[in-house]
Amino acid sequence: MPISSAAPHSQAAATEPSPDCPLCPRLVEFREEWRAKEPDWFNAPVPTFGPADASLLIVGLAPGLRGANRTGRPFTGDFAGDLLYATLIEFGFAQGDYRADPNDGLVLKDAAVTNAVRCVPPQNKPASGEINTCRPFLSATIDANPRLKGILALGRIAHDSVVKALGARLRDAPFAHGAVHRLDEIPLYDSYHCSRYNTNTGVLTEEMFRAVFRRISADLGRS
Ligand code: SF4
Repeated sequence: MPISSAAPHSQAAATEPSPDCPLCPRLVEFREEWRAKEPDWFNAPVPTFGPADASLLIVGLAPGLRGANRTGRPFTGDFAGDLLYATLIEFGFAQGDYRADPNDGLVLKDAAVTNAVRCVPPQNKPASGEINTCRPFLSATIDANPRLKGILALGRIAHDSVVKALGARLRDAPFAHGAVHRLDEIPLYDSYHCSRYNTNTGVLTEEMFRAVFRRISADLGRS
């Protein structure tokens, strides 16, 4: 079952862009720049990590330049991944050791991790047009999962893109850390992004992040 028949996108859309997706000229230019500078890096749209039929989909903002854009796996190789994957392991959504390397053998269990924007943006700031242009891949990822029971948005931009992907209005679902929005059959959970900035400034503590996962785990009947 698709999440929302009102969602403004095609059911048949691809869940993953091509490695040379040409749709955002600024991001393509940035990608080419880093392909030239760091030919051994991934430097392409970063695909979703985890099973396509996971109960929980976690949506971040965009690949970090030296994180996912370098390694090719969401949240892998930068600070945000340390907290995210440690928390996923703690709550049983991941198994193995997270070593900031896509070859570390970490396996996601009933959770998948993706980004609202699949290509790394300069200064980690995608433009609104780029977020819109990349949304069909997010929408398709949501629609392609018939077992999805919850979406966790990390930060306001991811939240807003998920709300739009679900065909809902932002004013009906304002972002707030710890909020749960029931826009459709699938609840949308909000958390501040687990970035180094947010954790260093105390905007998001590890305990606040754990509390979000406790709620999700309880709602999914895992605890
Ligand atoms: S951000 Fe998304 S739509 Fe834009 S170029 Fe990358 S993959 Fe394509």
